[in-house]
Amino acid sequence: MFKIYNTLTRKVEEFIPINPPNVGIYSCGPTVYDYQHIGHMRRYVGDDLLIRVLKFNNFKVHHVMNITDVGHLTSDADTGEDKMEKGAEKYGLSVWDIAKKFEKQFIDSAKALNIELPKDLMHATDFIDEQIELIKKLEEKGFTYKTADGIYFDTSRFPDYFKLSRQNPEELKGGVRIDLGGKKNISDFALWKFSSEPSGLPRRQMEWWFEGPLKGELSTQKNWSSVPVQYRETVGFPGWHIECSAMSMEALGESFDIHTGGIDHINIHHSNEIAQSEAATGKPFVKYFVHHAFLQVESEKMSKSLGNFYTVADIEKKGFDPLSLRYLYLQTHYRQEMNFTWEALEGAQTALNKLRGEFASWGEAKVGCAEFEQRFKEAINDDLNLPEALSVMWEMVRSNYPGSAKKRSLLKFDEVLRFGLAEFKPEKVEVPDKRKKGGFSEADKIRVQIEELGFTVEDTPTGTKIKKLNR
Ligand SMILES: [Zn+2]
Repeated sequence: MFKIYNTLTRKVEEFIPINPPNVGIYSCGPTVYDYQHIGHMRRYVGDDLLIRVLKFNNFKVHHVMNITDVGHLTSDADTGEDKMEKGAEKYGLSVWDIAKKFEKQFIDSAKALNIELPKDLMHATDFIDEQIELIKKLEEKGFTYKTADGIYFDTSRFPDYFKLSRQNPEELKGGVRIDLGGKKNISDFALWKFSSEPSGLPRRQMEWWFEGPLKGELSTQKNWSSVPVQYRETVGFPGWHIECSAMSMEALGESFDIHTGGIDHINIHHSNEIAQSEAATGKPFVKYFVHHAFLQVESEKMSKSLGNFYTVADIEKKGFDPLSLRYLYLQTHYRQEMNFTWEALEGAQTALNKLRGEFASWGEAKVGCAEFEQRFKEAINDDLNLPEALSVMWEMVRSNYPGSAKKRSLLKFDEVLRFGLAEFKPEKVEVPDKRKKGGFSEADKIRVQIEELGFTVEDTPTGTKIKKLNR
């Protein structure tokens, strides 16, 4: 029996899908305007573990993830700059090229961490029509109103708005008078933002219009004559939240099993998704909400200004195997904040190397260790208790079972852990940063020392690789 913490009920619950053994999962994917760092990637490893554990329990998983390539503003309050436009300016590329560049960086990072992404990632810009349809449905049902800068969802018309966040709407106001712009309630949010000429709002690289049968895209030709006069005031772009409702329901149906995201999505993004989806369909949107906790670096929030912003490629440049980062992630429960340190990563690399060494030393895989397999399954099924699963794994590795039995069981565990033990080539040994700390002047000396130990040193585009010499 698989149990998972459901943010909707604030309880660890037995997982029972709507239509067993099928499971539909939607994960909020990255906004592709800048580099995805190791904090983001922790979340996607968390999703990967959830999916692998479901498959381990013989569920048939349909996993959907979106790529946000439009509409995400820097502030959750529907103000601030457009993240995509900002990224485009920063890197001197078009919005469309920024999206491509950082989607690739995300996919490369995911591959390096053995994350299995869905084959077809859903791009928000490919589902503009579906988003417009959903907004129209909400308009027809009376859940929307227009302001000078957009079409908004009226949360006062949806009494269950706070069911996920459990916020007190009075406390939210905090007794202070807040400038709501044209919004009626503090929790109202934009479904569509205008950027049209009549409103005098800034034009964008990505724009569409809606209403009428002639809805379409304006972004490439910027040709106003292609937009019927009566629709020109609708020219603009979708709000961020509407894309996830439109795409998840398009792919998985109006009600589905699991929706994942970071804990930062609870109060606004996922609350908005629930409101607009359930208002449109009248059906429960999602059965289980799963939220992942954050990562800090050396007990501080990661940020470029603090110089503690790291990507998976940075980890590799320092000589670490990206899978040592996966190992490190697994050592902290997904609902606990994780503190990343280089020392801890070195520890994870050492543990992973040791595990690989043990695995390689065992003979052919035969019948597994039933007792440990049972305990491993209990751990992963207990709200994804991977730290416990790892400790069961090490207990088995150190046990007196024959190597052939341990090998069989470890291969099974690796369906979830995905350290890639079966594929790993034992002659390739990565040397952690520690050994290379001497800098360039010391490099040759260290190289000689390493070669004396029976390895060759190779400089590759991703950093120094150490290979064992065949003697
Ligand atoms: Zn989302």
